[in-house]
Amino acid sequence: MKVGVLALQGAFARHVRVLADLGATAVEVRTAGDLADVDALVLPGGESTTMSMLLDSSGLRGPVADRIADGLPVLGTCAGMILLATRVADGRSDQRSFGAIDLDVRRNGYGRQVDSFEADLDVTGLDEPFHGVFIRAPVVERVGDGVEVLAAVDGQPVLCRQGRVVVAAFHPEMSGDDRIHGRFLDLAFAA
Ligand code: GLN
Repeated sequence: MKVGVLALQGAFARHVRVLADLGATAVEVRTAGDLADVDALVLPGGESTTMSMLLDSSGLRGPVADRIADGLPVLGTCAGMILLATRVADGRSDQRSFGAIDLDVRRNGYGRQVDSFEADLDVTGLDEPFHGVFIRAPVVERVGDGVEVLAAVDGQPVLCRQGRVVVAAFHPEMSGDDRIHGRFLDLAFAA
């Protein structure tokens, strides 16, 4: 199980640790060469505008898009969710997303007062709540027909799945709880 974590910017290091603790071979992805032999990919939190620029300058934009189109399992968290969405409101005019999951999101949509908060989430398929850490998180404003909502806060989806693409508005790598990553590995490597 070789899982790549996009390591151009942001909170990639903790994802690598959580995945390794779960028994996966976790590698940092900075080049198309790094991407070539991974069997799943994590797009971490950080700053989606910066990551979007770095995807272009690193030459990774096309290879990542191609792998996703070929069915690569992908987990996107926070900025990673923004990078996987269909449409992004309040983005920078030059930022681009992969359109890998049929969601419209609003960057920093929870507003300034509550731009960081924590919430215990009831997640479909998990017995106990998952403690979600939200940091300048995107708000999901539209959910496409093919998208399954796995958790919500005040009626707003915060964990969604479409096929083998999973996105979280929060930072699952920061809770000392590996269940979201574990579920992603199950989904990615199920026979
Ligand atoms: N607000 C950030 C963005 O627009 C995302 C924040 C995060 O990833 N914690 O990319």
